[in-house]
Amino acid sequence: MAEIEREAMEYDVVIVGAGPAGLSAAIRLKQLDADLNVVVLEKGSEVGAHILSGAVLDPCGLDALIPDWKEKGAPLNVPVTEDNFYVLGEAGHLRVPNWPMPPLMNNHGNYIVSMGNVCRWMAEQAEALGVEIFPGMSCSELVYGDNGEVKGVVAGVFGLEPDGSYGPNTEPGMELHGKYVFLSEGVRGSLAKEVIARYDLQKGKEPQKFGIGMKEIWEIDPAKHREGTVTHTMGWPLGSNAGGGSFIYHLDNNQVYVGFVVHLNYKNPYLYPYMEFQRFKHHPMVAELLKGGKRVAYGARAITEGGYQSMPKMVAPGVALLGCSVGMVNVPRIKGNHNAMLSGKAAAEAAYDAIKAGRQSDELTAYETEVRTGPIGKDLKKVRNVKPMWSKWGLLPSLALGGLDMWTNTLGFSLFGTLGHGKTDAAATEEASKHKPIDYPKPDGTLSFDRLTNVSFAATNHEESQPCHLRLTDPDVPVKVNLPKYAEPAQRYCPAGVYEVVEDDSGPRFVINFQNCVHCKTCDIKDPSQNITWVTPQGGDGPNYPNM
Ligand SMILES: Cc1cc2nc3c(=O)[nH]c(=O)nc-3n(C[C@H](O)[C@H](O)[C@H](O)COP(=O)(O)OP(=O)(O)OC[C@H]3O[C@@H](n4cnc5c(N)ncnc54)[C@H](O)[C@@H]3O)c2cc1C
Repeated sequence: MAEIEREAMEYDVVIVGAGPAGLSAAIRLKQLDADLNVVVLEKGSEVGAHILSGAVLDPCGLDALIPDWKEKGAPLNVPVTEDNFYVLGEAGHLRVPNWPMPPLMNNHGNYIVSMGNVCRWMAEQAEALGVEIFPGMSCSELVYGDNGEVKGVVAGVFGLEPDGSYGPNTEPGMELHGKYVFLSEGVRGSLAKEVIARYDLQKGKEPQKFGIGMKEIWEIDPAKHREGTVTHTMGWPLGSNAGGGSFIYHLDNNQVYVGFVVHLNYKNPYLYPYMEFQRFKHHPMVAELLKGGKRVAYGARAITEGGYQSMPKMVAPGVALLGCSVGMVNVPRIKGNHNAMLSGKAAAEAAYDAIKAGRQSDELTAYETEVRTGPIGKDLKKVRNVKPMWSKWGLLPSLALGGLDMWTNTLGFSLFGTLGHGKTDAAATEEASKHKPIDYPKPDGTLSFDRLTNVSFAATNHEESQPCHLRLTDPDVPVKVNLPKYAEPAQRYCPAGVYEVVEDDSGPRFVINFQNCVHCKTCDIKDPSQNITWVTPQGGDGPNYPNM
């Protein structure tokens, strides 16, 4: 095929992804120097369309970036007023009192927000400062310079033929070059994954760990709505099958965010995270809250859980990884947005200093140092053992020991040092022969829903004529390896029903319904054969979340 000719545009900084990390970087760059040329590219049809968080927002990131955010009308309208933590059994619940919790677990001073709306507001702030933001523009490739540095990205490729070739309607997109490229793609970014592999950035670090988070927005009976209330649960229905738990956040307008996270290092390939979430809503405490209400939106997204010891090196020549492309979630707090914002600010400051000094396309080591030793590193270091303890010892011992470790870390030391995570989540999956299938109750259509019905509430859409963005390295692996060995877990771990094994006269066939994909990236993470690669589909496709 002839070399593709593309126009190129030159910027000071090219930012991939309009989440809290990317937008914070853009805002900070323009605060520091209004003359810098800064562009943000976002694959969602609009800013916020692909944003999915709980979300309880710790405002420390926003305080550092835009101290007068209140006067500027930031949509942080629901302060947390009540903080509850329960361990669930099948029919009952045990309230864990707040007093033994280390102070870092306290949610007072935080806000229940729609992060989608917070990002929309941040985009307005960025544009007012002169940042160029292009939604509906997927960045599908990295552009490398002559010395192996990252020089830019290719964005805006549309209309490829189903086999990936160029056809009469293909728009080749353009190259956007920057003195520095920031990858703020969120969890398991597809370009970040390429950069981590190419420059061996995970070397010497623990593997990154993940969970799959699913979330519904419910409108509930006003009599049961308690604006500002935050509830977290652990225990049932996961029990010893997997780590994870739920969140229930009462925002305004009688709406409640109901979400469930399953740690992806579960062993039993029959586990079905989506059905665990649906089953959870039938717990008497949750069912009572939701009864009479209606589910108005659904979405799913992976969440980084490796924390401090899993953060890869985050700079390479010409490029820096930001936010959850590094993995900055404080797992016991289930919070990463504040660190994403702080990382954007830190990366911007390092790039500004470098550009002022006449540098470009080198490693922004000052950024990495700030992340590891500044507020982000401090936040993550205190809680670094909670996830490995949970993985090794299960819920109850890790609650006690994790609590103790967070307390001693608050005082500046740990009795455990830094525990490792060991395996990747893909490698944690055991063969089906060692496990029994799990019998999940059928959704009742009132509290619980089948996957495809719920996916329609994510308003996801992918143009069918484009190439499948879920690429199999070896198309035979799902049926020849994964099916006999692991009962092909893709059928269950995908929260959008993308993957099916269909039996017909010629035997089992692996089907990929890529139109349903909600961009959660779980397949790229959990496939035990590591045979699925998530690449970005054309811009504007994917979910269209209203106020997730
Ligand atoms: C279920 C769940 C609950 C959570 N709850 C909370 C909570 O209560 N509080 C909290 O603080 N944190 C929470 N988090 C964590 C929080 O969501 C993340 O830490 C945060 O989103 C990270 O921000 P980011 O900017 O790095 O990435 P993201 O917010 O994921 O933003 C990345 C953006 O980049 C875009 N993008 C990706 N790739 C490309 C590409 N190639 N081209 C163009 N655009 C691209 C995406 O569409 C997206 O808009 C939760 C996460 C989950 C999954």
